[in-house]
Amino acid sequence: MENKAKTIGLVGNQNSGKTTLFNALTGMNATVGNWPGVTIERKEGFIKGGRKDLILVDTPGVYSLSPYTDEEKVTRKFCLESRPDIIINIIDATALERSLYLTTQLAELNTDVIVALNMVDILEANGITIDDQKLEEELGLTVIRISAKTGEGVEKLISTIRENKYRRNPHLKIYAGNVQNEVDHIESDLNTELEETHNPKFAAVKVFERDPFFKALDNTSTENEIKAIEASYEMDSEQIVADQRYDFVTKVKNSCCIEKIMPESVTDKLDKVFLNKWLSLPIFVVIMGLVYFLSVGVVGSLTTDFIDGLFNGSESISVFGFDIPFACQGLGPWLGSLITGGGGSVWSADLVQNGVIAGISAVINFLPQLIVLFYCMAILEASGYMNRIAFFLDKIFKKFGLSGKSIIPFIVGSGCSVPGIMSARTVESEKERNTTIMLTPFIPCSAKLPIIALLSSIIWPAYGWVVALSVYMLAIVVILITAILIKRLSKIKDDTAFITELPAYKLPEQKDSWREVWDKSLAFIKRAGSIIFLCSLALWLLTRFDWAWHYVGPTDLSANVANSGSLIDQSMLAGIGRVIAFVFIPAWGGNYSWGLTVSAMQGLIAKEQVVSSLAIIAGTSAKDISTSAAFSFFNASNGFAAACSAYSFIVFNLFSAPCFGALAVMRKELGSAKNMIKAVSIELAWSFSLSTLIGLIGWSSTGYSTKGINISEGWVSSGASGTYVGIGWIDGMVLAVVLILVGLVVYFHFIKPRITHQPIGCEDEPNRGARLVKAYHKAKAKEEKEKANDQK
Ligand code: GDP
Ligand code: MG
Repeated sequence: MENKAKTIGLVGNQNSGKTTLFNALTGMNATVGNWPGVTIERKEGFIKGGRKDLILVDTPGVYSLSPYTDEEKVTRKFCLESRPDIIINIIDATALERSLYLTTQLAELNTDVIVALNMVDILEANGITIDDQKLEEELGLTVIRISAKTGEGVEKLISTIRENKYRRNPHLKIYAGNVQNEVDHIESDLNTELEETHNPKFAAVKVFERDPFFKALDNTSTENEIKAIEASYEMDSEQIVADQRYDFVTKVKNSCCIEKIMPESVTDKLDKVFLNKWLSLPIFVVIMGLVYFLSVGVVGSLTTDFIDGLFNGSESISVFGFDIPFACQGLGPWLGSLITGGGGSVWSADLVQNGVIAGISAVINFLPQLIVLFYCMAILEASGYMNRIAFFLDKIFKKFGLSGKSIIPFIVGSGCSVPGIMSARTVESEKERNTTIMLTPFIPCSAKLPIIALLSSIIWPAYGWVVALSVYMLAIVVILITAILIKRLSKIKDDTAFITELPAYKLPEQKDSWREVWDKSLAFIKRAGSIIFLCSLALWLLTRFDWAWHYVGPTDLSANVANSGSLIDQSMLAGIGRVIAFVFIPAWGGNYSWGLTVSAMQGLIAKEQVVSSLAIIAGTSAKDISTSAAFSFFNASNGFAAACSAYSFIVFNLFSAPCFGALAVMRKELGSAKNMIKAVSIELAWSFSLSTLIGLIGWSSTGYSTKGINISEGWVSSGASGTYVGIGWIDGMVLAVVLILVGLVVYFHFIKPRITHQPIGCEDEPNRGARLVKAYHKAKAKEEKEKANDQK
């Protein structure tokens, strides 16, 4: 008879080695998702050994089971309510005291706990000796020495679990007499029918601590007794419990652990350089510069044009600014010619070439630089350097409601917002992470540079760079103001950052780093890719047909010229642009221009499209748009007004919603569409009000003359009109394939997650008690540090 699979939770402090042990225990078969309600990663996999009998769940790193930070909420909820069969409590053996605090809480659960004493490979080097038999006796829990990194003891851990050879949770009595009596008393009075009492020992302590989550169990008759105990200790119950836990932990540690005073460690030496008052910042700039250079600079520049060529065709590609001949028909044009050659219509060839393939290539185009970036980030994180960044930038950034680590997304974002937003994962506090994600798109990404370059030269031909510089300054000002506004408006006042100590520097494990790269890249393709794909198709539809479903797209695909022969002014997008253009009359300096409006809208697909869209609508090359009829208001003869309209257009594109790719990752990283919409609204509010302001200044210089507004011109069609397209059998097949693709994407992206969704949810309870424990922890850590300093 087959037994049901057991669930095993992996619980421990941050940086205790959970991820490494998870990988060692599961091999390569894990699923990665998010915990419901939060954007914290959830990993699940079967413990290796052929049978799928043990499911391992990786939980967020925590220092205690209070429900204060998101990580704690998730881990606590998992431990209390998901009722794992076994908890593996992974402990950093080099930081026994800090780690055991959590163990004392886990030991109160109604679950068996196995202690995995990790990092035993570096114990000796740290001058620490631990008697694990003694530790096992003191805790009453099975203790297994392991090194997640070298694999030592991992097999023993697995066999201990499989063969049920571990101690049952003895629920040691760790508190002083009267406190223990009171807790026991509360426990015996608990109403065992309530869900909360599944873990009676834990619940009893929580009632004693007056944890609001366990309020339902409260019994007024105990309140007086608790008060009496508090009076005798002159502390509140929460602190009494924390204090006595620490006493217990200290006692255990002293009985089984000997620490030699060690000469200055490698970490100390490295920190003298990396955290040096003068050197830390320059070193950081160099390291980040290197990461940026490698990912966006080298790999991005090497691959972007190349991949674009492979998919969309090219004659030459630009690498590091040099044009290299690279004749390639490209997958899209090849498929397109295959369809037309086989008797299909231009529209179906165009659908495949410029809708489907262009959409897919937009996704794949991001990948190489993302892979390099993810890898660099994984290395920086695992080596312990990332914690140092947070450490020395936190002071400044916290003032703006950001974390020290926010600097990374900002720097990366100046290349491309997509990897920038994704690298925000390293920011631990959810609030700071969300603020960072919202602000990253404000950094002008490289795709916005052509817009800035083109229009700057219209504004001030000889000094375009001054204009460009002013745009960057404006971006920084907007970012700082927005950060402060978000900080002021959000309700949580205090930050939750809790850096007890900086972990020792470690050489990162290649296997784990690459595994992280794999997980994240796959997540990007699945989540962002499907949205980019669908949006490109939607935009294709809007630019290719008019309201009567006449085809107004290109009539000749072979010319290798985008939109050759297309009547974009007839398209639905132009129609929508004509309506929306009214709103933009002030922003465009008193000009009614569907051309500018539509170009800005195309920027949603990719900011690269804005300049080419202007050129297509003007019917000229990009640099001549100011002499075209469509954009005559940019003409230098209009002086100040022209400059303002152009500047306003730059500003709008700079601060408005980012491209679909960035929107998709924002949606994913912010955890909900609601948060994404909030972020985009903030961005739109900025871009719209700033550009309107600038436009109005320009308009006022012409005395608000309305001569620029020639509404009828915008509505009159150019005379030519599109045609109805027929559907041959080849077109029909193409359409069917595309529709099936869309169906699959919609099913896997939107429908399936909803069907299989299992809500756990995390309630947001203001918890004074938990905060107290936190403060207590902080004070204790500080005290310890001072003690250590005194010893030196
Ligand atoms: P998590 O934050 O708990 O998921 O911890 P990680 O698994 O990311 O590990 C943090 C760091 O400790 C990484 O650099 C690991 O390579 C390192 N590490 C994990 N286990 C061991 C171990 O047994 N020995 C040594 N020397 N390093 C380890
Ligand atoms: Mg981890």
